[in-house]
Amino acid sequence: MSTTTLAGATQDEMRKRNLGSLLRHLHVNGACSRSELTALTGLNRSTVGALTAELEEAGLVRSEQPIGHGVGRPSIMVAPAGERAYVLAVDVGVEHASVALIGLGGSVLARRELQHVPGETPRKLIQRARRVVDSLVATAADGSVCIGIGVSVPGVVRHSDGLVHIAPNLGWIEVPLGSIIATVLRTNLPIAIANDADLAAIAEHARGAARGLSHVVMISGDVGVGGGIIIDGRLMTGAGGYGGEIGHMVINPSGGRSCRCGSVGCWETTIGEQAVREALGVLTESEVRASLLEATRGDPRLAEVGRWLGLGVANLVNICNPQAVVFGGMFGDLYRVVDEAVAQQLGNSLAAPLEGLVLRSAALGPDSVSMGAAERAFLSLLDDPLGHLARCRELSAA
Ligand SMILES: [Zn+2]
Repeated sequence: MSTTTLAGATQDEMRKRNLGSLLRHLHVNGACSRSELTALTGLNRSTVGALTAELEEAGLVRSEQPIGHGVGRPSIMVAPAGERAYVLAVDVGVEHASVALIGLGGSVLARRELQHVPGETPRKLIQRARRVVDSLVATAADGSVCIGIGVSVPGVVRHSDGLVHIAPNLGWIEVPLGSIIATVLRTNLPIAIANDADLAAIAEHARGAARGLSHVVMISGDVGVGGGIIIDGRLMTGAGGYGGEIGHMVINPSGGRSCRCGSVGCWETTIGEQAVREALGVLTESEVRASLLEATRGDPRLAEVGRWLGLGVANLVNICNPQAVVFGGMFGDLYRVVDEAVAQQLGNSLAAPLEGLVLRSAALGPDSVSMGAAERAFLSLLDDPLGHLARCRELSAA
């Protein structure tokens, strides 16, 4: 995106955008020289110098003198000040929850896990998490600022207020998680709560297998099949935040199985963990993972699952025209075994959207959800670095 020719934008808006663009490059790519930033942003040298100085004064970046090599004057290095501005990333997983402080630039500053207590209410869980949050925040550098909270839930979440409509594997129904967190943590900071598969897609897009791409479909999950669709570099959320439920795309309505959503023949029933378990003749989730790792490419037991996986991918490719389809969770291992069946089904896609398409397994592993929650929480800072920082300082002082 050009940052210099925004017709009609006021000077202030332009400055805000340029600051955001610069900080985003540093956040995603790590330390860059000023000349690299000039090339990456398309801004001129003196503008980059002035914007960098503003970000440095705000404590968001720091400049470092380079160690001189080669010919010419070495360019000053600029790095994100991860220890000065951080977010709180809370991952409420099916097996356990984790709380992490993640600094600007994506470094994990501190992290702790909490085991679930059977029968515990969401409020009780957040109350226990609060003690962990307090102990982690106590380790943060003097003068550092928390600039937001990102929370991942394996369920259907309303983005506007973080209401969890349903998280089947946690047994949560209509849980006002956003307001519980705000009350228990006694915070006015922005809280972004989202579905775990969406957040995994955000993380793979920012720092993993889909880095640098703008149009991505990610298929993830185990028991359920989740998805995250990135369009023009942003997560497709839909009107309420419920978009991307690709697992419930009806693919085999006549003769298919009943889905836990109430429909029949959803994609999830053909490629989800239960389908894979039955195809492999194993009983548990860990046996599925072990069998997939042992299975050879083209294993005939998985031919049918591979065909369904490919059919769904072909539909998604036709609809979204992504640059990459990324397979996460169990699907990363499954894809390695059934890639040929998937390629065969992709032959049913229209030819044009297949141009340049790549299919690959996810790169980040189980940490991707926390990383995605952090990326989501950083979004407001990267959109308006100085304005958002000032608001957060005010809120923390209140
Ligand atoms: Zn369904």
